[in-house]
Amino acid sequence: MEDLPNGFTGFSQRKPGFESASEAIRKAAIEQRNLRPDAESASRAARSGWQAELEGLPRLDQLGGLWGMRPKKGAGGFEQFINDIEFGGVSDKRFDIEAISGIPEKDRRWAWVEVDRAALRSNMMTIRNHIGPGPKIMAVVKADGYGHGAVECAKTAHNSGADYLGVATVDEAIALREALINAPVLILSEPPVEAIPLLLAYKVMPSVYTAEFAIRYAEAADMMGQRAPFHLALNTGMNRIGVRYDEAVTFMQHIGFHRALDLKGTFTHFATADSADTLDFEMQLRRFTEAVANLKAAGIDPGLVHAANSAATIRYPETHFDMVRVGIALYGYHPSPLTRPLIDLKPAMTVHARVTNVNAVPMSEGVSYGLHYRSPGSVKICTIPIGYADGLWRGLSGRIDFLVGGVPFRQVGSICMDQCMFEVNMRTAASRKFLTPQVGDEVIVVGEQDGLAIAMDELAELMGTITYEVTVRFGERLPRIYR
Ligand SMILES: *Cc1c(COP(=O)(O)O)cnc(C)c1O
Repeated sequence: MEDLPNGFTGFSQRKPGFESASEAIRKAAIEQRNLRPDAESASRAARSGWQAELEGLPRLDQLGGLWGMRPKKGAGGFEQFINDIEFGGVSDKRFDIEAISGIPEKDRRWAWVEVDRAALRSNMMTIRNHIGPGPKIMAVVKADGYGHGAVECAKTAHNSGADYLGVATVDEAIALREALINAPVLILSEPPVEAIPLLLAYKVMPSVYTAEFAIRYAEAADMMGQRAPFHLALNTGMNRIGVRYDEAVTFMQHIGFHRALDLKGTFTHFATADSADTLDFEMQLRRFTEAVANLKAAGIDPGLVHAANSAATIRYPETHFDMVRVGIALYGYHPSPLTRPLIDLKPAMTVHARVTNVNAVPMSEGVSYGLHYRSPGSVKICTIPIGYADGLWRGLSGRIDFLVGGVPFRQVGSICMDQCMFEVNMRTAASRKFLTPQVGDEVIVVGEQDGLAIAMDELAELMGTITYEVTVRFGERLPRIYR
């Protein structure tokens, strides 16, 4: 039997129980660094004193949770720890921690994201209407639901008819289970072998494309008296992950001897479903169809057959098979300008802030790092507490508008890490619509107001990236509110 061209060489010569890839990698790394245990202890023995002692200690990053740990209860506890910090003098009055923990996040920081559940529900319905009653829908909620909050989005999508949930990592899957979401969950790649007990305990399915993983997974399931459900990932041309399409049958026959393995689905992923040129897409679809047919011909039930991401779901009905996998469309954004005329989606995320400072800056004085913007006079400079660490890319400096009271105002000066400024020109503002900016005024960073819109995909376009990356970044640090 030849090696599979899927990056896994020589598995056919191995017997079950061979060393895992990660073990092999670790050994190779140790060899490379010439740190074989015997050599290491010999060299340590050759040295003495504090140096050798230090070497024997675990490194900080190996200490895991110990670093930055709160003092243990009983040894004075956290209360004692806070008490001992010199601050504002000594008093025997105490705040009610539970009461003050109720202060909403958007009152701790005047910048936040709002996620509209009704928009998510509406997008689910629109997608269902678009694909008809046949195919199942997988809601892809990886990367914290593209920044919209994985748990809330998964719940909303599941309640609006999503049959499956897709995530990228084991921890993302566990988070859904810990939120008591019971839908089938598929990890869209193959996790490390070491994570297999977590998959079985939390009942989340892996994508599989190496024989080694498949066998380890099956053995672990067998030991627990369980089956090992999985989806087979096929590489039809994107060359990211998966068993090569023309090796699907060979691969399945190789691992097929293991009774615990349970093929629940077979899928591939398109590299160009969003582009105008359809040649590569058509080739991938042909290869996938062929691979699925070959599996069936070999007497292997492929389970749920799925291939379509949002772009393919919207553009190509022939890719729907048994299930579609929608991410970006669920959140209300178009994967491509080409899908715009085909489906009506509602963006679920808006970004908001409140003015924290208003400053009349005299003519020719600069604003923000570098003072690249100079006041033309008769302007008020307003500050909002949102910056590039919140997803408002520094490269957008001076190139975007915010909305206040339905009026667009230009962002000016370099966007800082946590704050940025915009300009209210008192001359032009007065001629258009009277506006006296006040501390506390609400600012729309992304969203609609009085028929004007700052759109997520416009920001993406300005930044030379895709909408996915913009919403993911806005979801990282800003507090989120669900409507
Ligand atoms: C992220 C992802 C999707 C969803 O893609 P969208 O373009 O957001 O719809 C579907 N399938 C796989 C394998 C993915 O990694």
